[in-house]
Amino acid sequence: MLGIAALTAALHVVGSAFDAVNIALIYLFPVLFSAVYWGLAPAVFAAAAGMLAFDYFFVPPFLSFTVQDLRYLLSFAVYIAVAALTATLASRLKQQAKHAKDREALTAALYSLSRQMTAIGDLRALLENIASQVSATLEAPIAIYLPGAAGELERAAWSPGEHGFGEGEPPMAIADWAFKHGEPAGKGTGTLGAFPGLFVPLRTEERTYGVLAVRAEEAPHADSRRLLEAYGGLAATAIARVKLSEEAKLAHLTAESERIRTALLDSVSHELRTPLATIIGSATALMESDDVFSSADRLELLGTVRDGALRMNRLVTNLLGMVKLESGMLALRRDWCDAADIVGVALAQVKGFKQNRRLIAKLPEPAVYFPADEVLLEQVLVNVVSNAIKYSPDGSEIVIAARQTGPWVRISVADQGIGIAEADRERIFEKFYRGQNGGGTTGTGLGLAICKGIVEAHGGTITASPRAEKGTVVTIALPAGEPPTEDRTRKEEEA
Ligand code: ADP
Repeated sequence: MLGIAALTAALHVVGSAFDAVNIALIYLFPVLFSAVYWGLAPAVFAAAAGMLAFDYFFVPPFLSFTVQDLRYLLSFAVYIAVAALTATLASRLKQQAKHAKDREALTAALYSLSRQMTAIGDLRALLENIASQVSATLEAPIAIYLPGAAGELERAAWSPGEHGFGEGEPPMAIADWAFKHGEPAGKGTGTLGAFPGLFVPLRTEERTYGVLAVRAEEAPHADSRRLLEAYGGLAATAIARVKLSEEAKLAHLTAESERIRTALLDSVSHELRTPLATIIGSATALMESDDVFSSADRLELLGTVRDGALRMNRLVTNLLGMVKLESGMLALRRDWCDAADIVGVALAQVKGFKQNRRLIAKLPEPAVYFPADEVLLEQVLVNVVSNAIKYSPDGSEIVIAARQTGPWVRISVADQGIGIAEADRERIFEKFYRGQNGGGTTGTGLGLAICKGIVEAHGGTITASPRAEKGTVVTIALPAGEPPTEDRTRKEEEA
């Protein structure tokens, strides 16, 4: 209206310079403008208003709707026809552009969802992502149903802030139907249409994974339905991918635990049998032919029995330690420990089976204190020193040294043994890993794994490196601390 009024005023000023046909053509502008911006009906309105204005102001007699020259009626008809045609074309073009834009937005939404979905590896996060994305695009609440442990459908995810949609018996029953039949159900599908929602199965070629539901008061438009089905397909593929990878992980875990169980059984039975055989042998000899043996022989046999028992004891302690570490039950009982004490106790424990190695302790002066679980650290040190004994020749020297360097207390065990190949230096701390250098020695490959677990629980590190001349140095580094003074005094008093 405003455009036509302005145009009429403008034409009135210069109008006399134009003839009527040109003026009629100029009146087509508001029609085109309305058609492009507002569609068909406003364009027709603009055409009618333009024609009336043209008639009233520019067709003689002026300032009247009557038409003197009847040929003008033909011009009016042509004008209306051209206006209607251009308006129809323009509005159709506009609709197509809108459609193309909608399609593009839709494709972009699907693409972004599919991209996000491939990046998510966890089922719960995936479902929540689908629910929030789909509900944002469709601007309606969403619910996703998946079969639970018992095979019954459960509402597994819903759009954020919409806790209620899809709960209760009717929607569950519809979801169940869609799941079992693998077909859409609810509003606009001809099946169970009373409930205000559309349910589409999450289906891949092979199977149906669940159901996606969206609230719909009316039967949804074909476009939204197609979109929802596309989302359903995408979601199903993503769920299939996550489920497959979970299944693969589980299969891998099962195989791994099977392998560990076999390795454990093998090595434990071997490790237990060897000392058991010596214990049984020595004990039987002592019982049956006691009078044959001199007291020195008897002592030696008893020593063998004790060594065997100690070896078994170490194995059992390590196994228990492993179980505790694995189950996360390893509780540290930290207290201020004296490094010298720990070395002393560990040396006393290995004395029984040190064979002919020379054990030399180099202790720090003044004493070094640090917060640790004394019993567990002794276990670590016994394992490391036992290895040094086990993997070094008769008569060689083993040096156990403790010192503080900066914020770390380091306890090192250096032997003159067979050494560790470079490739093995990290791997020997893995569970059940036995070095290539082992040769005839028996073992479980558990000792160092436990040491690492315990030391790391203390916030420390354990490493193996070659010794300058020959052999290995295993170094345990633990965080030092500043003990409270009264504690130190108490410890010193006790000492
Ligand atoms: P095990 O001694 O029962 O095999 P460990 O976990 O205690 O298990 O040790 C793992 C591997 O590390 C051993 O099999 C051995 O090859 C290597 N190893 C450990 N300590 C030493 C050492 N002091 N000298 C040489 N090799 C060692």
